[in-house]
Amino acid sequence: VVEAEKRICELEKCEWALLTQSGMSAIDTALSIFQNGENNKPWLFFTEIYGGTNSYIDSVLVGRRGLDILTFAPDNGSYDLKKFEDILALNTPELIFLEVISNPLLIVADIEEIIRISGIYQCKVIIDNTFGTPHLLNPLSMGADLVIHSATKYLGGHGNITAGVVCGNNEDYRIAAVDYRKFIGHMLSADDAYRLTTQMETFKLRISQQFRNSEYIANLLDKSPVVEKVFFPSLEDHPTNEIARKQFGDRGYGAIITFDLAGCSAEEKRSRRDSFIAALSGKIRLIPTLGDSHTILMPVEPVWGYKYPEPGMIRLSVGFEETGQLADSISRALDTL
Ligand code: PLP
Repeated sequence: VVEAEKRICELEKCEWALLTQSGMSAIDTALSIFQNGENNKPWLFFTEIYGGTNSYIDSVLVGRRGLDILTFAPDNGSYDLKKFEDILALNTPELIFLEVISNPLLIVADIEEIIRISGIYQCKVIIDNTFGTPHLLNPLSMGADLVIHSATKYLGGHGNITAGVVCGNNEDYRIAAVDYRKFIGHMLSADDAYRLTTQMETFKLRISQQFRNSEYIANLLDKSPVVEKVFFPSLEDHPTNEIARKQFGDRGYGAIITFDLAGCSAEEKRSRRDSFIAALSGKIRLIPTLGDSHTILMPVEPVWGYKYPEPGMIRLSVGFEETGQLADSISRALDTL
């Protein structure tokens, strides 16, 4: 376990890393060390975070622990940091929690600016860097207090491990997190940690290829007449394209692409979505996770219909296959529409 943690410290450029048995247990650990009996200031969560984290907030933090939770939502596909600062000034929360790249619309947060503003109000910053990965960004070097990952995704990279990690620099937080992990039993098994260590040997190779594939496929989809809109931060019409370019340089834009198929009616869009998925069967499978070695997909409406009711929308988690082969499968499926 310690060997795997050392590897993650090198990747995240931080003093310590503590493995847990899932991304959710990493989130629970990172947040719970700031819970202080009944004397809690409010905690602020960005709304565009993993659905499971939102359920944890509603069910555990509010429903069971009775914490005072504030939320911050984007406007027109990006975060208005003036509004964010107004919420901090008014409520002085204990901490904020956000993701570097949101899901499924790939909204990129300006991490440097968010950390700067939070510092003014002495508000701790906890960042879920699962989608960003340490290849794009090291938020702890920029002043974040804690970073978490679902190592189930890109750190493991093969869809065959469930693990999480909390990373930090502050020694008091480390001691508190070690205790919390021990008392609650959020420890990762040595077998899983061993497998994670070997799989992280290829992290840089895998992720570079995944990011390259993603840019290629996003451009391919963007040019297709049967695709109405592509959400990917490298594209100039993405609302956070400028922030992504500034923050990620030429390292990539993540490996998730969301796109909306064109159609004259909701029925037509839904039927095209289903035909596209059927045309890819055996090549790109419908699996409700992300970060696997192979490209996988998920229709958005059946999962997030309450929030994103677009019937033609599909989320692709791009793998590290050979680019030409992947592009060929997707082009052929688009052609059938
Ligand atoms: N954070 C993000 C961004 C996720 O997408 C997920 C899961 O999909 C999690 C955390 C939770 O991770 P796990 O499934 O390892 O508990």
